[in-house]
Amino acid sequence: MAKITERIRGVAVSPIDGLSTMVYILRCEGGLILIDVGFTPLCIANIEAELHDMCEKWDSIKLILITHAHGDHIENLQKVLELTDHPEVMLGTGDMEALKEQTGVETDMGLEQGDLIGACGGIEIISVPGHSAGNLTYYLREEKAMIVGDTIFGDDDGNLFTPPAKYSDDAEMAKREIRKLLDYDFDKLLLAHGKNILRNAKEEVEKLVNV
Ligand SMILES: [Zn+2]
Repeated sequence: MAKITERIRGVAVSPIDGLSTMVYILRCEGGLILIDVGFTPLCIANIEAELHDMCEKWDSIKLILITHAHGDHIENLQKVLELTDHPEVMLGTGDMEALKEQTGVETDMGLEQGDLIGACGGIEIISVPGHSAGNLTYYLREEKAMIVGDTIFGDDDGNLFTPPAKYSDDAEMAKREIRKLLDYDFDKLLLAHGKNILRNAKEEVEKLVNV
């Protein structure tokens, strides 16, 4: 259980390949937003425990945002849709086909660079292709937080890395595109894999892209 800010909860789901995986729950005015859904039944149980801790239920989830269509982030999607009450599902346009192939879930609308979701003080969509074609980072304006998915990887000591080639469509592009994050004002970097950076995160990202 981890309360990151009043609005943001992080849920650690399962280790894979030595990496732990996180999903996030946002408490917004109109309900909850779940960012990524993880994989394995343990992950479902951990999300449920977090909802319970927040005095919320699966039905409170009104929107599911997917960072990218790789298994560790999406495998539970059908299960989550069974548990919830028809939330909308959104992800990057470039990953819509992959999501459908892997989970059977069709999405009506893909997200693109510069799109804005009005909830939670404004969530801006940053398109960061390379790790996957439709890979996204979600920028929470009021929280000054970047929920990066696999745009940036980290370790348990707070070191940051560009996405590993073995997991990426085009690792060089993935590395180049990280620079886009520096156009935004943020201090928190919330990762899917690795230790979150809760202060001065932009400086750490600057160091990463300038290596
Ligand atoms: Zn991942």
